[in-house]
Amino acid sequence: MYYIDPHIHMVSRTTDDYETLAKMGCVAVSEPAFWAGYDRGSVDGFRDYFEQLTTFEPKRAGWYGIQHFTWLCINAKEAENVALSREVIAMIPEFLDRPGVLGIGEIGLNKNTRNEATIFLEHIDLAVKTNEQILIHTPHLEDKFQGTRMILDMLTGDSRLQRERVLVDHVEEHTVGLVLDQGFWAGMTLYPVSKCTPQRACDMVEIYGPERLLVNSAGDWGPSKPTAVPDFILEMRKRGHPESLIKRVVYDNPLTFFGQSRGFQFKSPSDV
Ligand SMILES: [Zn+2]
Repeated sequence: MYYIDPHIHMVSRTTDDYETLAKMGCVAVSEPAFWAGYDRGSVDGFRDYFEQLTTFEPKRAGWYGIQHFTWLCINAKEAENVALSREVIAMIPEFLDRPGVLGIGEIGLNKNTRNEATIFLEHIDLAVKTNEQILIHTPHLEDKFQGTRMILDMLTGDSRLQRERVLVDHVEEHTVGLVLDQGFWAGMTLYPVSKCTPQRACDMVEIYGPERLLVNSAGDWGPSKPTAVPDFILEMRKRGHPESLIKRVVYDNPLTFFGQSRGFQFKSPSDV
């Protein structure tokens, strides 16, 4: 089955991973900008990162027939540096019209601080003014419920936002309903050490249905599994779900959501 991984950090993965993903049916990936494992010292560090995301990664993915899309921002961890964040936000428009850029992300909260919230709102303002879609990171573990509530309050407080153009990622059982009820898209992240497993993601599809639900690996430089979406596909099959339902979640839904971005020029595998 063809599938799309809507949240994966390929800059921290090897070329062999691209090859493996292609062999497993992955035809497209979307890569949000994230924390590199250290705090960057200047706006030029982000400019170089955005250059990599919009030039070399699409090329490297293309070696294996995978289409690469990306999202730009300064992540919540580095948003503690408000002055640097504002420089990055002012620089992002240099890249927004590049091919494959889908919007602003992954913005969000990490420790639910005041500075993180300030920079989150300034990203939202940029996205609205430039008509970009938004991809949101929700905090981990003990900070997730409160952080998700804070994020949803900030989003619903902005009447300019089109909720069907916003994806809230890393949902779990206690947050997915809040996100879907408000009209946003929800992403389930399959991650070995936290977040969600393929089994729990299947449970959530069974409980909530496939509408506005996505599943991703968030493969990054930490303990993570870039082939987690095929694990989900297998688990769904083992439970006897029809191929049409599985395809809806791992292929049709990402196309519907991404299709709202002007930077999403997708060639379906039959056209390539
Ligand atoms: Zn991420």
